[in-house]
Amino acid sequence: MVKNSDGSGGRREGGAEQRIVCKFGGSSLASAAQLRKVRAIIEADERRRIIVPSAPGKRDSTDTKITDLLYLCHHAASVGADFAGPFAQVAERFLAIEQELGIEPFLAGHLQQFREAMSPDISADYVASRGEHFSALLLAAWLDAEFVEPAECIVIGANGLVDEQTWELLGARLADPAKRYVIPGFYGRDAEGHIRTFSRGGSDVSGAVAARAANCMLYENWTDVSGLLMADPRIVDKPRPMQEVTYAEIRELSYMGASVLHEEAMAPVREVGIPVNIRNTNDPSHPGTRIVAELSPAEVASTQIAGIAGKTSFAMITIGKNLMNREVGFVYRLLGVFERNGIPFEHCPSSIDSVSVIVEASWLEGRAEQLLEEIRRTLEPDEIDYVPGIALIAIVGEEMAHTPGIAARVFAALAGAAVNVQLINQGASELNIIVGVAPEDYPQAVRSIYDAFIGQAGPGRSQ
Ligand code: ASP
Repeated sequence: MVKNSDGSGGRREGGAEQRIVCKFGGSSLASAAQLRKVRAIIEADERRRIIVPSAPGKRDSTDTKITDLLYLCHHAASVGADFAGPFAQVAERFLAIEQELGIEPFLAGHLQQFREAMSPDISADYVASRGEHFSALLLAAWLDAEFVEPAECIVIGANGLVDEQTWELLGARLADPAKRYVIPGFYGRDAEGHIRTFSRGGSDVSGAVAARAANCMLYENWTDVSGLLMADPRIVDKPRPMQEVTYAEIRELSYMGASVLHEEAMAPVREVGIPVNIRNTNDPSHPGTRIVAELSPAEVASTQIAGIAGKTSFAMITIGKNLMNREVGFVYRLLGVFERNGIPFEHCPSSIDSVSVIVEASWLEGRAEQLLEEIRRTLEPDEIDYVPGIALIAIVGEEMAHTPGIAARVFAALAGAAVNVQLINQGASELNIIVGVAPEDYPQAVRSIYDAFIGQAGPGRSQ
């Protein structure tokens, strides 16, 4: 696919392809004041034509998300208990927003019908979906836009992922470039026609699905942070936001624990090259982070790394055997032990006479000894070593492949911080360097690597 300079994949000038999908998260829709900001954002750009809202989220840290209240209602209703308390909270939140915005009242009737439909056998997905449903009805009224019912045009398969039929159904429903549409996030229907939700946080997926079905030029994901951060803010003091990052880099960073978009949100847009822009509803002039197929030349020129992410929740088993390299099928048999025990592995770095298998530590809880015994029986190793806790840190950046000295910088930083490196892994794609350290060294290791690239290196790929 030919990419434009904006990474939009060669979309035609004018018409439907110039539209932008805007997904707004729960905090962007938590109150009337937030909805005012949302309208100003939408009206600031004519191309913002397809709007995908979440259910109202928390107004402050003591608040409860509408979706959580709805799951409480469902739980109570399913055991025949009284759901009046959480239901009243849901209704009050919506009605207060409607009233404060001065919208012609219409929601009370919908809420009443919903209340009457509550029964012990009502589905959890249906109840949870009402948060996005009412949120979208309200927003459509506030924007004077057309409401689109996802149960008519988004099909969710038995695996919980979007079904292929959706592209045509939803594409046709969103076809008019002159209209502004509001389509609730989070749900669609299953093959039998019942309301079905994506997994939690799934409005991100709905936004990506709408962008792809309507062949939009951009997917804007409006949230309450000014883009994705280069490192975990709980470890690094005020890490910088990323300006531009590729789909592949995001995949690596989120796999290693960075909180990004919903895991399934990237695939629909990545497959057709629609860029994603993470923006802040509370700071709309901030450009946020762009997620693209290929970095722009300016970004490449200034590239150091995209970001750093990591997790402390791994365990490692290392097997040593003399002349292992001559034994055909050794690693195959080793991984076979993990397969038979239903344990997925994360990494498998090897050297001539040793190989390590890294797994999420929780898989080995209470069964490590039994697994080690099975490995001993199957492979007769000279040595076997079990490390129950190891932290992995991924230093991610596509341009690593063309930039000498990245690894040197990482290891100099770790040496300078007196952190012992227990493991090094770099995939052939050269998209990342992974280092393993003791969990207690993890925060210091992340900070020292961050400082080595961002502290001294100038803006690099950040703002
Ligand atoms: N409201 C749903 C949730 O809380 C979906 C979303 O907001 O993305 O999971």
